Amino acid sequence: HHSNIDVVVVGAGLSGLSAALLLSERGQRVIVLEARDRVGGRTYTVNKAETGPVDLGGAYVGPTQNRILRLARRYGVKTYRTHEEEDLVVYRQGKAVRYRDGVFPPTGGLLSWLDFNNTLRHMHHMCKQVPLEAPWRAARAKEWDTITVQQFFDTHIWTRGAMENAKNFINVNVTSEPYEVSLLWFLWYLASAGGPLRINATTNGGQERKFHGGSQQISEALVGSIGADNVLLERPVCSISQDASHVVVTDIHGNVYKASHCIVALAPPLQSRITWSPALPARRCQLLQRVPMGSVIKTFMYYSAPFWRHDGMCGTMCAFDEQALVFNTLDHVQHDGSHPAIMGFILADRARASSSLTKEQRKERISKLYARVFQSDQALTPVHYEEKNWCEDEWSGGCYTVMMPPGFLTQFGPALREPVGRVHFAGTETASQWTGYMEGAVQAGERAAREVLHIKGLVSADEIWQDEPEDEEVRAEPWRLSWQQTMAPTVPAFVTSLSLLAAIAAGVTLTLWRHRSS
Ligand code: FAD
Repeated sequence: HHSNIDVVVVGAGLSGLSAALLLSERGQRVIVLEARDRVGGRTYTVNKAETGPVDLGGAYVGPTQNRILRLARRYGVKTYRTHEEEDLVVYRQGKAVRYRDGVFPPTGGLLSWLDFNNTLRHMHHMCKQVPLEAPWRAARAKEWDTITVQQFFDTHIWTRGAMENAKNFINVNVTSEPYEVSLLWFLWYLASAGGPLRINATTNGGQERKFHGGSQQISEALVGSIGADNVLLERPVCSISQDASHVVVTDIHGNVYKASHCIVALAPPLQSRITWSPALPARRCQLLQRVPMGSVIKTFMYYSAPFWRHDGMCGTMCAFDEQALVFNTLDHVQHDGSHPAIMGFILADRARASSSLTKEQRKERISKLYARVFQSDQALTPVHYEEKNWCEDEWSGGCYTVMMPPGFLTQFGPALREPVGRVHFAGTETASQWTGYMEGAVQAGERAAREVLHIKGLVSADEIWQDEPEDEEVRAEPWRLSWQQTMAPTVPAFVTSLSLLAAIAAGVTLTLWRHRSS
C-alpha cells in the first residue's frame, strides 16, 4: 500500500514520463505505473548484433517537433538525417520510375498530376480552418465530420494515379484506410502536424531525422531523472476509484496507490480495460468505445551492402501494386554506415490481411517486391529480417495512434482531455501539435502535469498550455504551395477549357471555310 504520493501516473510512455518529470521537478512525489517490463511504450529500440540499434516503433523526428527535440538535447541523444540523396522510386503498374525532389511521388501523367495537386491544395487550405485545440469548433466541422476521407476523395478525384497517391497518403500517415476515417479528423491530424507537406516530407518534414541509438533512450533517460524507484514496471493498472479527497489506483497484483491526483497517459482504447469507480460519465464511457488503433507492421530487411545506393537510389520508394505488402520504404543504414537495411511499412488493410502470414512468408514477399522495385537480384538475399506487428501488441493494441471515425470529434472530441474528477488525461491522442507522434506525447504529458499543478495552486491557468521555442539545430523552413501548385486547374476545368478551345477552333475554321467557299 503506497500512500505517500501526490500524483500517480498510469503509463510510462513518453507522455506519462514527461508528465512525471515536470511534476517531480515541481516538488511533487510521483509514482509511474507501467504494464510492460520496459518503459517507452510505442517507442521500442531493439539492439541485436544483426541490426544495431533499430526503432521498431516511433523513430522519425523533424522540424517543429521542438519538445521531443528539447528532451533529446537534454539527454545528449543526437539526431541524424534520413538518407534521401539519390533517386526516389515509384512503382506503378509493374514499372519502377525514378524521380527527385518530391514530397509525393509523381502520379504518372498530366491529368493525374492536376488531379492530385487539386486534392492536396484543397486539404492544404481546409486544414488551416481547423482550430488545433478544438477541431470540433471548425466552421465546417459538422459537414467534414459526417463524411469519410474516401467520400471526399470520390467527389474530388477523377484519375487513378491521383487516387493511388491520395490513398497512400492516408495509409502511411495514419495507418488506416480512407474509408475508415473522418475527413474532419484527418484534416485536424494534418493541421496539428503543420499541413500535408510538412507531415509527408522527409527533408524539412516529419521524417527528416532519427535518433542515434534509437528513440527509446529518451524514455530511459527520463526514468533516470524521475528516479528508478518511482517508475514501477510490470504493474498493469486495473482499477481507478476516487472520492472527494483522493484517487486510489490498483494494479493487477493488488498493490494500491493513493494520491491526490492521477494522470492517465494511455491511448484511449486501452483505458476501457480499467474499472472506474464511480463509473465514467456517459460521454467518456462512450468515447472509449469509438476510437480503435491503426494497423501497422514495421519491417526491416537487412543486406550485406546498400546496393540501392550503389545503383543511384536513396531507398525511398512507394509501391502501388495489388500484391505488395509494403507500400512505403526509407533507407535504414546506421549513421556510421553499418547494418544496411530497407525499412518498410505494412499498412492498414494490408497489415490486417498479412497478419495471418508467417514471418518467413512476409520476408519472402517483401524481398521479392524490393527486387522488382529496386531492380536488383541482390534484394533477394537479405542477411536478416526484423519486424514488429503492433496490431498484436497487448499494451498498444495497434499503432501509430487511434483513428477517429465520422462523428467522433464533433460528438466526443470535447471530452478527449476533459478531466474526470481528480483524473487528468495525457497521451499523444490528446495533443494539439503533432498528435499521434512522440512530439504530441510530450506536449500532452506536460500539459496534463500543468493542469494538476494549476489545481494545486502551483501554476496559473494561462501557463497550462505553453509554446515551445524552436530547436537550435533542427530549423523549420515554411512550406508554401508553389506558383504551379496554386495556379494549376482542376481536371474538370482543364478538360472544359480544352473542349472550349477545341470548339472555338472548330468554329473559326468553319467560318473561314464558309467565307472562302462563298
Ligand atoms: P504510449 O507510448 O502507448 O504509452 C502508454 C504506456 O502505457 C505504454 O508504455 C503501455 O505499456 C502502458 N500501459 C497500457 N495500459 C496500461 C495499464 N493498464 N496500466 C499501466 N500501463 C499501461 N511517432 C513519431 O513521432 N515519429 C515516428 O516516426 C513514429 N512512427 C511510429 C511507428 C510505429 C510502428 C509506431 C508503433 C509508432 C510510431 N510513432 C511515431 C508514434 C509514437 O511512437 C507515439 O505517438 C508515442 O510514442 C506515444 O506515446 P504515449 O506516451 O502517448 O503512448
